[in-house]
Amino acid sequence: MANGNLELIQLTKRYGETVAVDAIDLKVPAGTYCCFLGPSGCGKSSTMRMIAGHEVVSSGDIVLGAQNVTDLPPAKRGTAMMFQSYALFPHLSVLDNVAFSLKMKGVEKTERYRKAGAVMELVDLTKYASRMPAQLSGGQQQRVALARALVTDPGILLLDEPLSALDPFLRLRVRTELKRLQRELGISFLHVTHGQDEAMALADLVVIMKDGRIEQAGTPQEVFHRPRTEFVARFMGGHNVVTLDGRPLTIRADRVRLGGGEAGADRSLSGEIRGVEYQGATVTVVLAVPDAGEITAVIPEERFVASPAALGETRAIHWSRADEYAFA
Ligand code: ADP
Repeated sequence: MANGNLELIQLTKRYGETVAVDAIDLKVPAGTYCCFLGPSGCGKSSTMRMIAGHEVVSSGDIVLGAQNVTDLPPAKRGTAMMFQSYALFPHLSVLDNVAFSLKMKGVEKTERYRKAGAVMELVDLTKYASRMPAQLSGGQQQRVALARALVTDPGILLLDEPLSALDPFLRLRVRTELKRLQRELGISFLHVTHGQDEAMALADLVVIMKDGRIEQAGTPQEVFHRPRTEFVARFMGGHNVVTLDGRPLTIRADRVRLGGGEAGADRSLSGEIRGVEYQGATVTVVLAVPDAGEITAVIPEERFVASPAALGETRAIHWSRADEYAFA
């Protein structure tokens, strides 16, 4: 297995006039769960495909371990990619799907079945070895695709929106499994998603992209608590971005209180209630605040019940200035 430290240096992808990836620099240490996050079209998949070798690099370098792999074919890089579509062979059994790439490499039959068996054990597929893909559920097909990528013993596993085809319940389960697998294998996973909750739940390193550039790269805590830009704050959610005292600030929605002032709440504004959404443990209230714009407050349910808010009402809101955060 290749040493899995990955470095992207001024990596660029152009499709004709379109600059899909614009001279990005990034270091991903071996054994990292890294999520690429950003809106559709920001360059996540192009970055991934260049790392995997499925897309030609326009300029810049990809270094994996001690080797510059920029111009190597996919099979020579020590990376493996799991595709969104899974791309399983419909006429091959689960076992033969998983063993396929080893067959291509000329690995002898006993050895390739032994290796495929070990990987299938890891992703809990052993009992489905002789089934055909059409006889499996979506979640099981996804595990076959995963096993097929892992059987090549990659230093880095690339996953392009691996959970998008699953229903919400299964998505949570598979998410937990992916994290466990990454820890057990000790290799880096590079996972493309447009869901900030998915990135927060899985990643050691979150890479937020916008228009082909890296807007911020850091731990989930860093990007959530210390967003470098307004875009990051808005994209990560849970924050209000407001201009107060002449500068843009963020304030977490769960730090905004409705109604009566409390100790430490030294910022007071008022606004008209524009939306009330019940969420179970919390209630989300949206207010239109003169000069500050829309402010969202996430209130614990029992507080809301003690002092409910109705649409159209004007209410005071408070928070502590200590909870405000100004962009660096
Ligand atoms: P993401 O994965 O974040 O949605 P992509 O990497 O797929 O973003 O796309 C980035 C940009 O490059 C988009 O503007 C997209 O339209 C463009 N693009 C992607 N693939 C191609 C292609 N094969 N040919 C031309 N333009 C492409």
